[in-house]
Amino acid sequence: MRDRSRDPEVIMPQLSNAIRALKASSTVAFNAKALELKRAGVDVIPMTAGEPDFQPPAHVIAAAHEAIDRGMTKYTASEGTRELREAIVAKHARENGLSYAVEQVVVSTGGKQSLFNAFMAILDPGDEVVIPAPYWVSYPAQVQIAGGVTVPVACRAEDGFVPDPAAIEAAITPRTKAIVLTSPSNPTGAVVPEAVLKAIADVAEKHDLWLITDELYEHLIYEGTFTPVAQWYPERTILVHGASKGYALTGWRIGWACAPIAVAKAMNTLQGQVTSNANAIAQYATQVALNEVDATAAFQAMTRAAYRERRDVLVAGLNDLGLPTPMPHGAFYAMTDVRSIDPDETAAATMLLERARVAVVPGTDFLAPGFVRLSYACSIERVRTALERIAEVVR
Ligand code: GLU
Repeated sequence: MRDRSRDPEVIMPQLSNAIRALKASSTVAFNAKALELKRAGVDVIPMTAGEPDFQPPAHVIAAAHEAIDRGMTKYTASEGTRELREAIVAKHARENGLSYAVEQVVVSTGGKQSLFNAFMAILDPGDEVVIPAPYWVSYPAQVQIAGGVTVPVACRAEDGFVPDPAAIEAAITPRTKAIVLTSPSNPTGAVVPEAVLKAIADVAEKHDLWLITDELYEHLIYEGTFTPVAQWYPERTILVHGASKGYALTGWRIGWACAPIAVAKAMNTLQGQVTSNANAIAQYATQVALNEVDATAAFQAMTRAAYRERRDVLVAGLNDLGLPTPMPHGAFYAMTDVRSIDPDETAAATMLLERARVAVVPGTDFLAPGFVRLSYACSIERVRTALERIAEVVR
C-alpha cells in the first residue's frame, strides 16, 4: 500500500475535533517565519517574539554549569524542587509583600504551562473567562482547550490600552468563572494603575470569580511601579510568573504559579500526568537567579535601561512616520496602528516583512484589528535600521 503519511489532506480529517479547532500561536508562527527567512540569508529584523536579546546573567549561567557538574540532572518533585519553591516564596515576600507557603507554589515548563495548568484546574465546559483585549494569543487558545469560552473586553488605544473595570463587570454573566489580568501587558505594554487593578480585584471578589494574574513582565517597567494583585484577594488569585522575561531565560523554560493550596495541588496533579517536573538544571539556575538578589537586580537594571532607550527611539520614530503608537510603559512591545499602510493588519505586516524586511506580529489574534505588535527586544541599531526601512515603505 502507498504510504500517504506525508499527505496532510489524508491525515488531517483523522485528527481530533479539538485539535482541528485549535489555531497555531501567531507569536510563535510569525517568529518561526522570521527565523526561517534569516536562515535563508535574508537580512530580516525579527521584531516578532518577545525574547530578550541579552544572554542570562553570568551567575545564572555559572549555576547551570554547576548543576550539571554536581549531577543535579535527575527528575525533581513534579511541583519543582523545594529549594526553588522556597526561593520563589522569598522573592514574592521580599519584592511584592506577599506571603505564600511553599505548598502553594508549582514550578512548570514556562509561564505558558503554568497558565495552562490554571485554566485546566478551574474551568468546566462552557465556563466563561473575561480577558481584557488586546490580549496575548495563548490565553483564548488555552481557555478553549480547557473547554471554556473567552469573553474579550476591548481596551482603547486612546486610553493606553488600560482596561475599564466597569466594562469588565458588564461582561460578567452567570457563566463567568475567571478574569485574566496582565500588567505590564503583552501585547500592549500597558502598565495598569494600582487603582484600576484594585477595582478589578474588587469586581472579581464581588462576583466570586477567580483572578489569574500574569506577572511575567514585572521587572520591565519604565514609568510607574509594579502592583502585586494577589495582595487583595489571595484566596482566589492565581499568580503566574516566570524566568523568561525579567531574567532573560526564555529557552530555559521555567515558570511558576502561586495559588491557593487546593488549586496548586490540582495543577500539580495535572502536570504530574503530563510533563512531570520542569528542567532540573534550569530550576537550579533560576533558584540562584532569585537568591542572588543584588547581582540579579543589577542585571535587571541594566536590561531595563537598554529596553527603555529602544522604546523611546522606536515609539517616537513610529509616531513621526505617521504610524500612531501609544507610549507603552512596560514590557518590550509597542502596538502600532498600521491602517495607513493597509486597513488589513495582516496585509500590512506582510508588506513590512516583504518590503522593509521587518518582521512583526499582526494584531488579529491579539484582537487588535488595524494594529501590529513590534517587540523592541533587539539592539538599538536594529531598532534604528527597522525605522529607516519602515520609513521607505510608508513613503
Ligand atoms: N511570550 C512571547 C511573545 O508573546 C513568546 C512567544 C510565545 O510564547 O507566545 O512573543
